[in-house]
Amino acid sequence: MLVFMLTFIYIIADRIIPLIHMKFIFVSGGVISGLGKGITASSIGFLLKSRGIKVTSIKVDPYLNIDAGTMNPYEHGEVYVLDDGGEVDLDLGNYERFMDLKLGRDNNITTGKVYRSVIEKERKGEYLGKTVQIVPHITNEIKEMIVRTARNSDADVTIVELGGTVGDMESMPFLEAARQLGRDIGREENAMFVHCTLVPIMGSVGEEKTKPTQHSVRDLMNAGIRPDMIVCRCREGINDQAKGKISMFCDVDKDAVISCPDARSIYEVPIILDRQGVADYIIKHMGLKLMAKDPAIEQWNVFLDGILSPERTVEIAVVGKYTTLSDSYMSHIESFVHAGSGLRCGVKIRFIDSDRFMSEDPEHLLEGCDGILIPGGFGTRGIEGMIVAARFAREHDIPFLGICLGFQIATIEIARDVAGIAKADSTEFSPDTPDPVICIMPEQRNITGMGGTMRLGRFRTAISEGSKACSLYGGRVCDERHRHRYEVNQDYVQRLEKCGWRFSGRSEDGRRMEIGELEGHPFFMAAQFHPEFNSRPLSPSPLHRGLVMAAIKKKYGAGDGISED
Ligand code: GLN
Repeated sequence: MLVFMLTFIYIIADRIIPLIHMKFIFVSGGVISGLGKGITASSIGFLLKSRGIKVTSIKVDPYLNIDAGTMNPYEHGEVYVLDDGGEVDLDLGNYERFMDLKLGRDNNITTGKVYRSVIEKERKGEYLGKTVQIVPHITNEIKEMIVRTARNSDADVTIVELGGTVGDMESMPFLEAARQLGRDIGREENAMFVHCTLVPIMGSVGEEKTKPTQHSVRDLMNAGIRPDMIVCRCREGINDQAKGKISMFCDVDKDAVISCPDARSIYEVPIILDRQGVADYIIKHMGLKLMAKDPAIEQWNVFLDGILSPERTVEIAVVGKYTTLSDSYMSHIESFVHAGSGLRCGVKIRFIDSDRFMSEDPEHLLEGCDGILIPGGFGTRGIEGMIVAARFAREHDIPFLGICLGFQIATIEIARDVAGIAKADSTEFSPDTPDPVICIMPEQRNITGMGGTMRLGRFRTAISEGSKACSLYGGRVCDERHRHRYEVNQDYVQRLEKCGWRFSGRSEDGRRMEIGELEGHPFFMAAQFHPEFNSRPLSPSPLHRGLVMAAIKKKYGAGDGISED
């Protein structure tokens, strides 16, 4: 009886208590996709955080995949990995980078997750024989997922980005859930709706057209939502007249019509929004307590200045297999921006499809490049080309960084060409190789019978004293995120180390190789983990920073004042 009562109280509490003191900002998008809604949401979060307000964010994705883990990087960009092993939409990377947060898998809600949960409940009979419907069962589930995640984060304000475009059929349940949640928590003070739209410029006189914005706001109003703020994407800033029109026809305060012109860097967007009083408007509207402005804005301006006025530039070749869509490598690109800003160095990226190394001259392909990155990837295509690129970097003293698959490639290359294990390979590409230098670890193999399970999320690496890794990380441990199935076969570790490929980072039990660094080379490093997912504007990934420093040294010589620590 007691257990029953406690369970009942828990369920009620779970549904009611969270609604007290909860504040939500819902960010929707209209007219077209790809407007930078995620950057707007992230920038708003950053600005609130800079005023001492605790924020978190949730991305709602209207697709049926349970998570981004199975999605092709060509189609959807990079799969972003969180501490808890969640494989999520790349927008969560922007949230983490802008707001300096650590999010979890629950911060990404997909239609797939919502339906799975509702169907599981239906099978267990939890709906007591009722007809299970999109409204109210799916919408209630969405509300519960949003509220639970917000409550677990302990944030003052939760920013919810509604993926997709208003008017899309699949976004409707999410809009309805957001509308209802707004009512539940108190529409006036506790919920705000920010709508991002496009204001195109037409004709030779360059007139700004507000009609698409008006139509998309009408779509939003059809769903029962009146926006409180409209962020207008445009080529240049929109003029006062256009702001007035949007304010009048879309029923928003003129102060809340925000102009968001194309920026020189995504990191400029918070500053552009701040100049128009976005955070102050939100704070007033939501009755938030204004804390003293913290130095974050000042530091951010210094960071931005490092990006916009570099004193030098280097070019890094990214040799991979998803090179036609730069979003596939978004976190790497951002890591180079973070690293470059602190070093006052612009980092140009040259994407090269690794297959080209099979038929073209590497020297020609890499002409003018100061460093090479081989990022993560899956499957057999493009592998041998990556090995050619790694060999070229090793033999020609070109700074090299290999990440995840890149670490495995570097290990295979060194095994074949330096350790003399001619047939060295990974069982991923060559299941019957006589020399499986890279293989599935037994414990991963045992998790499922289907070729092993992915090792996902944050794990600790112990770093050897006196190594390059130790000086870059500034200590003997690092906690980085992982997403792989294969790893270095322990049977080959001694032979590889003997020829100079030192595993300076290992799992704490010493069994898994995490970092490799080549002796006698200016900079040839690789890691099994993904440091790019922990890179932040003010604390860049140490390995990307190491590569950029080495590239600067290669291009400008040692005397340019860049120190290694
Ligand atoms: N395909 C490799 C593995 O599964 C590398 C994975 C990656 O680069 N993320 O281990």
